[in-house]
Amino acid sequence: MRTIAISGSASGIGAATRAMLEAAGDTVIGIDLRGAEVAADLSTDQGRASAVAAVLDRCDGVLDGLVPGAGLGPPVDAHLIAEVNYFGSEALLDGLRPALAASDAASVVQIGSNSTTLTPNLPDELVDAFLGHDRATIDSVLTEAGAPFNSAIAYGASKTAITRWCRRASITDEWVGQDIRLNVIAPGAVQTPLLKGGDDDPTFGPLTSQLPVPTGRAEPDDIAAWIMFMLSPAARFACGSVVFVDGGSDAVIRTDDWPRTFTM
Ligand code: NAD
Repeated sequence: MRTIAISGSASGIGAATRAMLEAAGDTVIGIDLRGAEVAADLSTDQGRASAVAAVLDRCDGVLDGLVPGAGLGPPVDAHLIAEVNYFGSEALLDGLRPALAASDAASVVQIGSNSTTLTPNLPDELVDAFLGHDRATIDSVLTEAGAPFNSAIAYGASKTAITRWCRRASITDEWVGQDIRLNVIAPGAVQTPLLKGGDDDPTFGPLTSQLPVPTGRAEPDDIAAWIMFMLSPAARFACGSVVFVDGGSDAVIRTDDWPRTFTM
């Protein structure tokens, strides 16, 4: 069966995905701060490098799937969110790509977010700074925005940037050219410790409770089931797709914003 690495495997969506993969007979290499095969702190360069090395060691250089899912959200410190959500994911994508290329047909599902379309006024400069590894600009934009709302900006911008990174990479020789399918799932409100951290916060709680979710909030299994499909050969035509699974929040707030044509 397949060998699949998941970051953020100890909790929430990552843990639910892990359980479904293992029930299907796959081998999971979990990466998390604790409670995983690979214990690593993805907020630091050293932790990211050690995570990549440990996964490569455990999978003997061949990986059939990857789910970069470790993440933090408001009200956690904005700079920490930036490090884990963008740089933690990018390091795994980059560092594990050769092992994915060594598989016959690998699939990667990056966990993005509907915060990419539902956070107003995200600064383009910050998204570009992530993609350009311009830490000075990341620091200055986040510091100038100020706590506590800079954590929401860091969250939306880091998720936008990693989503854009995936779309850019997905269509290149290094990815689809090596039979690695790279796609993004963009969940909405899912009942996990990350969301509870926002709910329980005096600033963010009243805001998150106002987000319309026509279906009601999801449980982690609701998103894990989509990730299972996106990892499977049945999803082989998906490449660079961003799959929004958010209970209708985006459809309420951005109803007619897409699909949208373009002008040539
Ligand atoms: P969660 O808190 O249940 O799980 C996140 C995991 O990431 C935890 O196990 C945590 O230990 C790990 N992690 C955090 N910092 C880390 C670090 N420095 N190094 C290694 N691991 C670290 O949250 P979740 O909601 O299951 O989040 C999973 C992903 O889904 C995240 O990327 C999150 O942004 C995304 N997401 C969640 C929601 C939601 O409403 N819950 C919505 C959209 C997207």
